[in-house]
Amino acid sequence: MSSSLQCIDCAQQYPVERVIYACESCGGTLDVAHDFTSTPAKITRALFDDRLGALDSPYSSGVWRFKELVYPDIDDGQIVTRGEGNTNLYQLPRIAAYVGVDALLLKHEGENPTGSFKDRGMTSGVTHARRLGMERVACASTGNTSASMASYAALAGMQGIIFLQNTAIALGKLAQGIAYGGTCLQINADFDRNMTLVRQVAERLGIYVLNSINPFRLEGQKTIMFEALQQLRWQVPDWIVVPGGNLGNSSAFGKALLEMHQIGLIDRLPRLAIVQAEGANPLYRHFAGGFRDFQPVKAETIATAIKIGDPVNLRKAIRALEWTGGVVEQVSDQLIMDAKAIVDSVGIGCEPASACSVAGTRKLVERGIIKRGDSVLGVLTGHVLKDPQATIGYHADDLPGIAPKLRNPMLSAEDDLEQIVALLA
Ligand SMILES: *Cc1c(COP(=O)(O)O)cnc(C)c1O
Ligand SMILES: [Zn+2]
Repeated sequence: MSSSLQCIDCAQQYPVERVIYACESCGGTLDVAHDFTSTPAKITRALFDDRLGALDSPYSSGVWRFKELVYPDIDDGQIVTRGEGNTNLYQLPRIAAYVGVDALLLKHEGENPTGSFKDRGMTSGVTHARRLGMERVACASTGNTSASMASYAALAGMQGIIFLQNTAIALGKLAQGIAYGGTCLQINADFDRNMTLVRQVAERLGIYVLNSINPFRLEGQKTIMFEALQQLRWQVPDWIVVPGGNLGNSSAFGKALLEMHQIGLIDRLPRLAIVQAEGANPLYRHFAGGFRDFQPVKAETIATAIKIGDPVNLRKAIRALEWTGGVVEQVSDQLIMDAKAIVDSVGIGCEPASACSVAGTRKLVERGIIKRGDSVLGVLTGHVLKDPQATIGYHADDLPGIAPKLRNPMLSAEDDLEQIVALLA
């Protein structure tokens, strides 16, 4: 066995077959720890580069191409995959000019099978659920986790149970959960409360929790960094910028970068910048206060994917910031929606939370923390179709508290040739 569960606080180890989400001695969150020296293949850049363009599963997936770093001893036949990852890295001068740097790359995780990066963690999480023999899986979700879980659970023939808050669910995400046959439970409580409830219900009924408190999720999400660095021919950018909600991605990025550095796939660590919405900024406050005395917040933002006030991966995210000399920034809903409009207008598009990477980079450049000459890799986390209400509301100037700076208003005309020609002339 080359992997075990390990407490990030007291280093206590548990076998991976144990269904636990916290350390039994100290309550700390758990990592999947791998012994990379015991894998049969030597882990080198060439091992992963030789699999590029693979036509067959599992190496055709942008997650399982890195199997030795994700879940080394799983049988290929057990893997539940939709060929995740293999997402584009865009270089877009208009967005670089907007944020104020010379070199900006955006990795579009909205190009995953269900439209968000969650698929990368769900393929590893559901694969482990299958190995454990689970028939029922569950999550609390602001939308994307549930869309992804419902899809992968359906593929694996499991029941996927979704705890949704009863307000502010983006329509695209809700539609997916229902379409993929998830058991959707609307609960009169916010995300943070639903997170607590799902853990309690799962314990009572023996259901497997697939939120990012589950360390197998984060193993899959590490591959955003593996794949990005491979696309960059293993040349490290100065900054990685990512939105922060439950802080699963930020935590996975830290672990991925550290492992790549330890193995020798990269020769230095980039700095991590985590960007939160002003109305859902518990990590930002904690960072600004020197990490003393954490206080959860009551979350409110138009970026519903990060509307989280008490992130479960807080300690892992702090660790990632320490490893990488990282920073935390906050951005207003106004800046988020304007940045989204820029990303949308170049023809790429993203959902509101994703635009934090662009808005946050701009703010960090303004504050002199990111320099114009620094190379920046931002992650776009979700697809433009996820939240049509926010997009249409912005361009219709119909969003409370937001004055759209980049409106693309709808034109309309009568069934009248002259009128239409006059309008477009
Ligand atoms: C889940 C999600 C986030 C937040 O990621 P965390 O890992 O919870 O910090 C950001 N953007 C989108 C689109 C998401 O789906
Ligand atoms: Zn512990």
